Amino acid sequence: MKNNFNLHHFLVLFTSALLIGLFQHDFIDKTYHSFLEKNPNLLKFRFTVNDTNFSKGRMGNIQEINLKDLVKFHGHACDGLILGALGLKEGLQVLYPDGIIDRTNNRVVSKSSPCLTDAAIYITGARYQYNTFYVNDNLDGLYIIQRMDNHKAVSVSLKEGVKPAEITRLGLLADQNKLAPCELDKLRELEDNFGNQLLNSDPSKIFIIQELDNFIWNPLLDNKFIKTDILNKNVVTCK
Ligand SMILES: [Zn+2]
Repeated sequence: MKNNFNLHHFLVLFTSALLIGLFQHDFIDKTYHSFLEKNPNLLKFRFTVNDTNFSKGRMGNIQEINLKDLVKFHGHACDGLILGALGLKEGLQVLYPDGIIDRTNNRVVSKSSPCLTDAAIYITGARYQYNTFYVNDNLDGLYIIQRMDNHKAVSVSLKEGVKPAEITRLGLLADQNKLAPCELDKLRELEDNFGNQLLNSDPSKIFIIQELDNFIWNPLLDNKFIKTDILNKNVVTCK
């Protein structure tokens, strides 16, 4: 009898732990997992970065970060985050041919999209408050990344026609809160498909990475950009 009770007890605990684990996993990573279901390759997408090893530390804390880490930092998986991460990877490969990104050694100019800016600060270590990051919507491309030790700089642009025009059109309407709940869901579907398309493409064929000979760091102190990924946060469910 005692053994039966223990086994029963164990099974109840085990099942509860499993259910709680599954629930938490899904709860935390819903948008990431919806991309992962369609794209197991998402797991292979990684950056090797070099940081200092404590608050006053030396270089050498080499670690790996992946898209899941980036999604948790940003708040959701989305096409813009994937676009930014892929473009940064291409640009940083030119600046760091050994594939190890020194996150103490970069400064970045970015377009103002909340997804692009989050990808840039997380992956490169550049920060506005330390004069290593600023935003400029007049950039030709998505980013300019500069290595501070050798001043080498590259611009990162997406080739014309890669991003579906319908996403841009509906996105502009969403920014003005002009999309009905079901149209908003349609936009999400288009963006998810574009994100998946990006993950399945060869980044060297969709981005233009250009070395800039005379890049001038000219920071703009501006905090009036609009965080477009929270504008529709109270829209009701599509019925
Ligand atoms: Zn986003």
